[in-house]
This record gives sequence, C-alpha cells and structure tokens, in this order.
Amino acid sequence: MKTVNLIAVLCLAFNPALPLTPLMAGNHKKGPECFNHDSLQATLWMQTSAEYHAVTTGIYNSAREKLILALQDPDWTASLEQSGDYQDLPPAVILDVDETVLDNSPYAARNIRNKQRYSPQTWTKWCKEAQAESVPGALEFTQFAARNGITVFYITNRDSSLDESTRQNLANRGFPLDPNRDTVLTNGEKPNWGSSKVERRQHVAKNYRILLLFGDDFNDFTYVRESSAEERNQLVEEAVGRWGIRWFLLPNPTYGSWERALRISAHRDDPKKYYEAKLQKLNPAQ
Ligand SMILES: [Mg+2]
Repeated sequence: MKTVNLIAVLCLAFNPALPLTPLMAGNHKKGPECFNHDSLQATLWMQTSAEYHAVTTGIYNSAREKLILALQDPDWTASLEQSGDYQDLPPAVILDVDETVLDNSPYAARNIRNKQRYSPQTWTKWCKEAQAESVPGALEFTQFAARNGITVFYITNRDSSLDESTRQNLANRGFPLDPNRDTVLTNGEKPNWGSSKVERRQHVAKNYRILLLFGDDFNDFTYVRESSAEERNQLVEEAVGRWGIRWFLLPNPTYGSWERALRISAHRDDPKKYYEAKLQKLNPAQ
C-alpha cells in the first residue's frame, strides 16, 4: 500500500458517538486534512446500497409483529431496568436517534468530501440544520406504534444543547412526538443523565412498560461501555433470546462503541499507529 493510502485509511470522518468514547477527547480539534477512506466504504454502503435499505426495513417490519405480541402480554418487557409491578403501566418503546431513526450519512459524506474528520463544531452545525432523513422503516414503525397507543421515547447521546434541533428534525420527518411529555431524552438534560443510558431507561421504566428497544450500539440496550470486544461478544450470547425479539439492532459500520472496545483509542491521534493497531486486531486466515 502506498504511504498516502496508508495514512488515508486512518483518518476519522465521523463520530457522533463521541459521548460514548471519552478516550477520543483528543479528537476535538479539527485535525489534519485527510482522505477518510475509513468511512468512505461504509458511508457509500449506507447511502446507496439496496441492501442497507432492505435490512433496516426488514428489522422494523419484524418489530411490528413483536410489538403486537408484546402489547398482548402484560409480563413482557424489553428493559433490564424494569422491575416491580409494571404489568399495568402504559406501554412505550424506546429508540436511539442517530443511525437508528435519523440517518446522518450526509454529515459523514460532507466530511469525506471536505477531507475533514469529525469535530464537535461541524457535528453541532449539522444537527442544527435538522435535515437528517429517516432510517428506512423507522418512520412507519414509530407511527404504527403511536397509532396503537404506545408512547415513543427517543434516548439519544446528543448533547442537551441539541435537544430542540433534534426535536425539530424528528418533527420535520413526521416522527411521533408526544405534546404532553418530554419524550426526547438527551445527554446532560438532567444532572444524572450522562452518556450511559441506564438512568434514562430507568426514568421511562418508572411510568411505562417498555415493550421494545432499538439502537445501533450495544449501549442502547445495556451498559457495556467498559467491556472489551471479547466481553461484549460474550454478552451478546447471554442475551441470545432478546435479539430480534425485544432488542432490535440496526447496522452501523461507520462508528460506534465497538471501535472503542478494540482498546486502541490511545493511538487515535496518530493515524499511522492507529492503522497499525487496527491491523493487529484482524484475524487473518493462515
Ligand atoms: Mg445511534
């Protein structure tokens, strides 16, 4: 591989999951111009492939069937935070926002075209534009849930300063927003609402029976922030009866806590070292 290409694949284009990854604090600066090859393939797949369109549509279609079953079974809950006498509570579903209901691939594409990496400044600007499209299938699913009397909550690690623009973006696309209660729960909105979503799920679980959870990151379902890649895969096995039944995971190859779990974040500001650390994580055929 030519040196220029070697450097190119190391550059970060896109990481709205920054609150999940405090080790990336060094990436707040704009950083050197880069070619963003790391995100190019994944972003093209999300923006153009019929396969991405089909897989998210299929996930949300399957979820409709499970939603009906869940409604009919008062003991059904998707949330590990739900306990006590929840059987008679009104029903709710919880969805993450970025890459679960809103598609931020135009932000990634903008960064790639501009040869820039993720930065809080450009991310904030993009969020305030409130023009993200919906992930295929998400709008129809949430509207179906709302029509069936189910409150739709959005738990996002977007900063609370982006609460209003997030609400506006969801409204622009027609996502259900309950006018009588706060259903968009952002990071930092309350003192104990940090990047872990546990406290916000607990908040919803106090007053609602949580039927289904949706996200593009393992942390949208349970707290695995400190877990290694191996531990996370073990936890997936332990939750085998939940995936596709109570927990619905959308594909996101562009960013996420899976990358932090590689435990190579210390090299993130050094493109060459980061690339080499990634190579070491591969499991090649002998
Ligand atoms: Mg997300």
